[in-house]
Amino acid sequence: MHEVSLAEQLIGPVLAAAAQYGGERVTAVTVRAGALQQIVPGSLALAFEAVALGTLAEGATLTVETVPVTARCRRCDAEFEVEAFCFLCPTCGVADVATLTGNELLLASLELEPCESTSSTTSPS
Ligand SMILES: [Zn+2]
Repeated sequence: MHEVSLAEQLIGPVLAAAAQYGGERVTAVTVRAGALQQIVPGSLALAFEAVALGTLAEGATLTVETVPVTARCRRCDAEFEVEAFCFLCPTCGVADVATLTGNELLLASLELEPCESTSSTTSPS
């Protein structure tokens, strides 16, 4: 399944970021995914849940933000949003266009539970 390999690609950076920021547990992950990835958010969330088992990200909620597909016409330079995979310039009608956005798969944000989550913390005041 497509979403499983995407989830496997995501878990590494998520855990690396969690380690970098000193989090003890990842509670929420937001992913920015281009519409061309054709991700089913529910499937990706399930796949992520599975690959996160036994890691710092176990139990984290995954949110997918879809990025619309945009393209630029190579003939007239018009930039437009691509709907229903119709890569035709709305201005001059040619299909000679360059995709600008829609292919990305990025970690948008992470929510971490800090290490000092126990109530026995002593803060020097
Ligand atoms: Zn054009």
